[in-house]
Amino acid sequence: MAKELITKIEQGLKEKKARLEQELSSFATKDSGVKGDWDTTYPRVPEGDLEDAASEVEEYSTKLRIEFSLEKQLLEVNGALERIAKNQFGICKVCKKEIPQERLLAIPESAHCTECT
Ligand SMILES: [Zn+2]
Repeated sequence: MAKELITKIEQGLKEKKARLEQELSSFATKDSGVKGDWDTTYPRVPEGDLEDAASEVEEYSTKLRIEFSLEKQLLEVNGALERIAKNQFGICKVCKKEIPQERLLAIPESAHCTECT
């Protein structure tokens, strides 16, 4: 793959990474102990108000689902950036063949070729 194209993809990935981290940090804190892990802040449950408590817990589980999805995307983006840094970008993790350029342009995070997905 052409170097300019990789640079362009890298730029896009970095922007996506910043966006994902910003979204995550709006409701979760980065777990400094585990690489790539974020923790959703548990809601402060008001004492004696069960209805409020229930909706807070519900909100928390929604956030957890979003956190999980954002975290997954972030890991994929980071993985792609690592592959670029190691000069392994565009190589399928499983069969080590080159991933078709169209696929990489559509999904730059993909670590597998169309056959190994
Ligand atoms: Zn493959």
